[in-house]
Amino acid sequence: MLRTSVNKLFTAGIRQFSRRQYAAAAAIPDPIIKPDIQYNQIFINNEFVDAVSGKRFATLNPSTEEVICDVAEADKADVDIAVKAAREAFRLGSPWRTMDASDRGLLMYRLADLIERDRALLASLETLDNGKPYNVAWHADLGLTIKCIRYFAGWTDKIEGKTIPIDGNFFCYTRHEPIGVCGQIIPWNFPLLMQAWKLGPSLATGNCMVMKLAEQTPLSALHIASLIKEAGFPPGVVNILPGYGPTAGMAIAEHPDVDKVAFTGSTEVGKLIQQAAGRTNLKNVTLELGGKSPHVILSDADIEDAVETSHTALFFNHGQCCTAGSRTFVEESIYDKFVEAATERAKKRTVGNPFDSSNEQGPQVDEEQFTKILGLIESGKKEGAKMNCGGGKAHDRGYFIQPTVFSDVQDNMRIAQEEIFGPVQQILKFKNLDEVIERGNNSMYGLAAGVMTQDIDKALYLAQGLRGGTVWVNTYDVFTAQAAFGGFKQSGIGRENGQYALNCYTEPKSVIVRIPQKNS
Ligand code: NAD
Ligand code: MG
Repeated sequence: MLRTSVNKLFTAGIRQFSRRQYAAAAAIPDPIIKPDIQYNQIFINNEFVDAVSGKRFATLNPSTEEVICDVAEADKADVDIAVKAAREAFRLGSPWRTMDASDRGLLMYRLADLIERDRALLASLETLDNGKPYNVAWHADLGLTIKCIRYFAGWTDKIEGKTIPIDGNFFCYTRHEPIGVCGQIIPWNFPLLMQAWKLGPSLATGNCMVMKLAEQTPLSALHIASLIKEAGFPPGVVNILPGYGPTAGMAIAEHPDVDKVAFTGSTEVGKLIQQAAGRTNLKNVTLELGGKSPHVILSDADIEDAVETSHTALFFNHGQCCTAGSRTFVEESIYDKFVEAATERAKKRTVGNPFDSSNEQGPQVDEEQFTKILGLIESGKKEGAKMNCGGGKAHDRGYFIQPTVFSDVQDNMRIAQEEIFGPVQQILKFKNLDEVIERGNNSMYGLAAGVMTQDIDKALYLAQGLRGGTVWVNTYDVFTAQAAFGGFKQSGIGRENGQYALNCYTEPKSVIVRIPQKNS
């Protein structure tokens, strides 16, 4: 049965796509509310196995706080086996290393087709394990995941080196070779999409992977493991391990036979990853970390549009976005009117069972996040911000939090500085452009920024002045496989997506050949 109307999706606040794309994508199958969990083990060499220790851990449904199932708990011993498998798959002369680049692309296209085949199941697993609304999982997470794999599949046979006219009688060319065995550590906020952002460029460039999933959300990505095998990737090319950060995650970051580690998560752990790389084999490191992104609303903006866009910029995915527009800067002359409208919008936000398509917001991912967010809300109240709505838990059971709006927020308050990662909007007042650029940039982060205005000169001035890896103008959270994504400052190192991501998974090699000058 097809059930979700285009308008409902729009009011659900998922605004990354155009209306035309929604119309094309409006047919959405019913969710599978109690999916059969088929894959809950470690995936090494294309086989599902138990942990060496035999240990398992529970993954919870954050809507009910009930256990969904137990999952094998990988640790150092399992990482060692996975690294050996990846190393063997990467051996010179191996099937993976000798495969035509276009055939590597074909495997990736097949993987994308299989994800599309299982789209409803994968979206359902995402909703069950993470708590995000099924509509969002189906459209945004799965839509972007499939496109990401296809985008990078197209790159496989287009990774070209250069011919360089060097001094002397030499022929110089470059090869862009895979880095080798890549460790990848992903978070829980977009389990499938973060997996695709890592696998897309690393597979396209011919690497072999040992990936650790977030302990909160292992289920959807383990289903992808089964599809990797079904698509026909050689054993050992992709190894996927559920487990905890300080154990399995750190074993990857410290491993002497891992050539690169790519991490997405908190800045705090990002620093540990870089330190681990530095004290072991100086492995290549790329990091996608946190943010406290400014979203600047000028007085000439269409106020209705600005309220809705800034609402979505913050509340999308329950605020659990590294790019969340978590400092809404509003020009003085429209500040009061804006705060009132933003508060009304937040009050209308529907919070509840994420399988019910009338709900815009589900639970936060786990108790730790839930408690952290409520603590930061308390700090906002204590430090003197005005709480216009929300502030507490939304239901008796599950990690649901009321959409919360703070106004009269000052730059030095914790809620204006720390990444809350929850449904809590901070609205700050500003007077002029140079001031808002300075205050917007006054953060250890530099992931993203947004600007709402009808004035192209002001838009360009702000887009140039704000320091972030992405600046959105009159829109927000538009993610696409083609555009580079990543952070300035403590928001990260390197880029994901687009052609830029390929550079993070290849080593350029210069080959220099002497050209004889005489034929003897
Ligand atoms: P986290 O950084 O601890 O976890 C992210 C990933 O890193 C997970 O797979 C985790 O198991 C792993 N990890 C944790 N400690 C590790 C270690 N010592 N060595 C190796 N790997 C390790 O994030 P969290 O605890 O889930 O959330 C805390 C905060 O991080 C959130 O409140 C939010 O502010 C931020 N966060 C950001 C993102 C993002 O997309 N940038 C994603 C998740 C969380
Ligand atoms: Mg879970």
